[in-house]
Amino acid sequence: MNGFTGVGELFDVLDGRSVRCRACAHQCELRDGMSGICRVRTNIAGRLYVPFGYVAGLQVDPIEKKPFFHVLPGASALSFGMLGCSFSCRFCQNWSSSQALKDPQAGTPILECSAQDLVEQAREHGCPVLVSTYNEPLVSAEWSAAVFRKAKEAGLRCAFVSNGHATRRALEYLRPWVDFYKVDLKSFDDRRYREELGGRLSAVLDAVEDLLGLGFWVEVVTLVVPGFNDSDVELRGIARFLAGLSKDLPWHVTAFHKDYRMSEAPDTCAKTLARAAGIGREEGLRFVYAGNLPGEVERLEDTFCPSCGAAVVEREGFRVKADRLKDGRCPKCSTAIAGVWK
Ligand code: SF4
Repeated sequence: MNGFTGVGELFDVLDGRSVRCRACAHQCELRDGMSGICRVRTNIAGRLYVPFGYVAGLQVDPIEKKPFFHVLPGASALSFGMLGCSFSCRFCQNWSSSQALKDPQAGTPILECSAQDLVEQAREHGCPVLVSTYNEPLVSAEWSAAVFRKAKEAGLRCAFVSNGHATRRALEYLRPWVDFYKVDLKSFDDRRYREELGGRLSAVLDAVEDLLGLGFWVEVVTLVVPGFNDSDVELRGIARFLAGLSKDLPWHVTAFHKDYRMSEAPDTCAKTLARAAGIGREEGLRFVYAGNLPGEVERLEDTFCPSCGAAVVEREGFRVKADRLKDGRCPKCSTAIAGVWK
């Protein structure tokens, strides 16, 4: 440990004093003294120093805000974030922490803390779940894992809210401690991923498949941005891909509002979300939700039994209005609903 850094575990030593980071799919090769694309992982004399021992954001959120709709409805989640991201999205809603060290206008105060401090705060606030979120958690995977080790000892569940631009090795590393993993699938266009977000579509698609194969509970979010990713073709591509992996994979299509450096696109309307959700259902997805426009999207915030159509969980925004599940099953026809309900 050295200030707010420690020696990481997700890297390989190359020849001389170079290293290759393995935390995200960029897999940056770093000569001595260099930092990666995220700017928060640095090679110092052949060892990779990574974020450790601080938070740059900490608050209690409803788990529905992450959003996880098939995990412990109504539970509180202690959410913590650090600095840095492997992407540079112009519409980032957490840019002050994610783009810190890349954008001189970004930056947010940090607070020193230990893993035990975070676990104690979760217990004090009655949170059964700890979530690494706000910035991209893969860039600080080792610190999150240290927190989650303590959290597991205390009987808590743990989650990642991530852009999904992961390596298989990082996901295997996290698997013992991370129960729930949310992936932002931001587009189905590799050119856009490369030029406008700063990553590769194939890496994110591979990670979603790996996450399911490794047994994480996964939910996928697409922030629908008019003119960027809202064409029928692109939304259908995403939905078809997800349904091909699992029809039980929840897909959240959420509304964009102007943020950070994307001011030219209009805010997403309820009609566009309804169109996206319709495409998701046509492709066979059983659980499609519309987010960020509470109360404006008819029944697209609720969970319905895929067998008999009964409303099993009703929501408005992040609030659970009714949870009728009985041991994770539909109260009318007893069909098991995919998710982690208790
Ligand atoms: S986390 Fe990703 S962006 Fe950061 S150094 Fe590692 S490979 Fe590069």
